[in-house]
Amino acid sequence: MIPITKPFLPPQEAYQQYLSGIWQRQWLTNMGPLASELEMKLKNHLNVKHLLFVTNGTVALQMAIKALDLKDEIITTPFSFIATTSSIVWEGCQPVFVDIDKDTLNIDPDKIEAAITPKTTAIIATHVYGNPCDVLAIQEIADKHNLKVIYDGAHAFGVEVHGKSIFEYGDIATCSLHATKLYHSTEGGLVVTKNPEILKKLAYMRNFGFNGPEAFAELGINAKNSEFHAAMGLANLNYINNIHEKRKVISERYDIKLQNHKSRKQVWHVASSNNYAYYPVIFDTEDAMLKAMEYLKSSEIFTRRYFYPSLASTLPYLEAVNLEITDVVAKCVLCLPLYPDLSMEEVDLICRLLFRIQNN
Ligand SMILES: *Cc1c(COP(=O)(O)O)cnc(C)c1O
Repeated sequence: MIPITKPFLPPQEAYQQYLSGIWQRQWLTNMGPLASELEMKLKNHLNVKHLLFVTNGTVALQMAIKALDLKDEIITTPFSFIATTSSIVWEGCQPVFVDIDKDTLNIDPDKIEAAITPKTTAIIATHVYGNPCDVLAIQEIADKHNLKVIYDGAHAFGVEVHGKSIFEYGDIATCSLHATKLYHSTEGGLVVTKNPEILKKLAYMRNFGFNGPEAFAELGINAKNSEFHAAMGLANLNYINNIHEKRKVISERYDIKLQNHKSRKQVWHVASSNNYAYYPVIFDTEDAMLKAMEYLKSSEIFTRRYFYPSLASTLPYLEAVNLEITDVVAKCVLCLPLYPDLSMEEVDLICRLLFRIQNN
């Protein structure tokens, strides 16, 4: 059996070493020493000025929307994980979907301006599969129309664009450290901002708005993360280069083996590094994609329709809109298995089966 993904686990002793410290200190949560250490190490690793370690990537998005005081309409992408859209609705705003670019699979900056109305307050875009959005074009539009920008960087851990961390773009960037992501702390998330005022607000928000034991500075929530999660994050961080290297080798093997396959790949940002978070392939038709998915499944190889369906067309709490490119891409895309200990033989087998069913 080959699953779509397998969570990375550090050697058990590496995790246990952190646990014995927790038992000694008996400090389990509320921004303990491991959570602080993780924040410091992540700031160094990612080369960003400020970040906060929070409960998960969804709460990170909700905090970002709240911290920027967004109201009314928010322009966003329909091709993302549900949390990108649901956070907007959860915070009482209306998502306005703009179609994606068929090559990058990110929100198409050329279509953003047509969707701006006097009620638009922000753009929330996802760096899909870790591929950076056109951050310069989006910032230009935002500046011209006085809009805030939030990036959902749940897939983009470690990516750099135009020579700096992808998380340095936008007013706030978020990341997910969920177990299924490239780098994780079991559950976890990050909010990143260059702006010290916004950082301060986010820090209050993370801890109920407390400003000292008996005073409140902000409306807050409980978005703190625990020492146990921080320990997993710290243990995994020691393996991040190794994880990256293995994913790179696997992805490049897929690239070579699938060169002549009748599917296409996402076009990556030219001024950016890749973190090899996913291996999506886009088939010519939904039919071809479904045939491949079923065929692999019959050999106990599991793939995932990620992201399907389009967020613009299927949510019970939103009016459906059709978007030309997104509707087609969402139906034709399939993510292939990718995790550090996937073997070359397994990659070759997957590719062989994909050709066999294509020529069948
Ligand atoms: C995983 C993911 C999230 C949510 O992160 P959680 O940590 O699971 O809450 C948000 N956006 C995108 C694009 C994701 O893939």
